[in-house]
Amino acid sequence: MSEEKKIPYKIYLSEDEIPKQWYNVRADMKNKPAPLLNPGTLQPMGYEDLRPVFCDELIKQELDDTTPFIDIPEEVLDFYKMYRPAPLVRAYFLEKALGTPAKIYYKFEGNNTSGSHKLNSAIVQAYYAKKQGLKGVTTETGAGQWGTALSMASAYFGIDCKVYMVKVSYEQKPFRREVMRTYGASVTPSPSMDTEVGRKINAEHPGTTGSLGCAISEAVEVATKTEGYRYVLGSVLNQVLLHQTVIGLEAKQALEKYGETPDIIIGCAGGGSNLGGLISPFMGEKLRGEKDYRIIAVEPASCPSFTRGKFAYDFCDTGMVCPLAKMYTLGSNFIPSANHAGGLRYHGMSPILSQLYHDGYMEAVSVEQTSVFEAAQQFARVEGILPAPESSHAIRVAIDEALKCKETGEEKTILFGLTGTGYFDMVAYQKFNDGVMMDYIPTDDELQKSFEKLPKIDL
Ligand SMILES: *Cc1c(COP(=O)(O)O)cnc(C)c1O
Repeated sequence: MSEEKKIPYKIYLSEDEIPKQWYNVRADMKNKPAPLLNPGTLQPMGYEDLRPVFCDELIKQELDDTTPFIDIPEEVLDFYKMYRPAPLVRAYFLEKALGTPAKIYYKFEGNNTSGSHKLNSAIVQAYYAKKQGLKGVTTETGAGQWGTALSMASAYFGIDCKVYMVKVSYEQKPFRREVMRTYGASVTPSPSMDTEVGRKINAEHPGTTGSLGCAISEAVEVATKTEGYRYVLGSVLNQVLLHQTVIGLEAKQALEKYGETPDIIIGCAGGGSNLGGLISPFMGEKLRGEKDYRIIAVEPASCPSFTRGKFAYDFCDTGMVCPLAKMYTLGSNFIPSANHAGGLRYHGMSPILSQLYHDGYMEAVSVEQTSVFEAAQQFARVEGILPAPESSHAIRVAIDEALKCKETGEEKTILFGLTGTGYFDMVAYQKFNDGVMMDYIPTDDELQKSFEKLPKIDL
């Protein structure tokens, strides 16, 4: 490199540089993710089979394994302009605090009211629902970020939004709930008594504080039984991962402006959408044999789908009403320990990422929540952003990798996804600050019990 440009603290793209197309990594995958299966017949689901559940245009995206680039609708691009492009930040202060020769970059997606990357897909799903002439959408939310994002998106396009919120979060996160209601959504704690599946789960597990898998079942039931409604999901599905590729496309473009290439790309993994979105364009190069990157998924030790799960067909929900996906899973009955406060609680993982992980294109590590909050605190104090606990999983491993560089003297370039802010996670931060946060790692026996309930499918 002849003359190095001084890299600014924040690399902003211009409005015109927001990608006009999403990148569909499936087009470059030799082994495509396995098809969704009908929960009744266990047969692969095609376009017609999925129509009662999902919006038409989104099904096309879900099933499209071959088109590499898909246009982003004008209306969605207009909305993206309100909060995108998202900045790519050079973590100079963190680097200095760590004394590492590594260069650390993070793509910050917390710059909107929902506080996370989820708005990138929510707005697309609300747009297609509106375009199809639907009255509204139903969904589940755990910590509340997805419900918030979808309520914002639904308000923008003038459609109704019904959110089933995991009961424990509904009670612990009243502020999230009120943000959703401010945007016009109705919010119901799950399991509720409004749905068949909710009543069943309440009867079988009295006093349950709910789970994402259970809230999904409720939202799907309401969507399929209410005229003019469809169900939308904030992660896991191929379509969501596709929408989230704006993150990676912007990040790559911003790095290229300064001639930078990451050696290591790190993201937290709940259902896999932000990680999939961040890595897709880089993974494309890797799949085509053009470049190599180390790609690391970070998950909680208390909900370790990649590192301890099985690669198998499983239900996406507890109630077994949703299609089945082939993915790394802990079993749809798995509910993480109630003292787990760090998010990323979903039992399964994106089928795309699952296939890529299975084929050896990426790594995964699990981390314990106290070490995640230590990283969050360290980051907050030097970088000026109070990170979401989910995002802090990526921070943890970015710091660990930067510290390894300090030992070896290697000047690696690290890119990680900072998916959101943690202002609504103060109960978790409080536990950490009070020194009462505990780590919980499920035993092999516990996992085994859950694996035994995996559906037996031979395809
Ligand atoms: C939902 C969420 C995640 C995890 O979801 P993925 O689909 O795995 O990306 C991570 N970070 C934040 C801030 C979230 O809101």
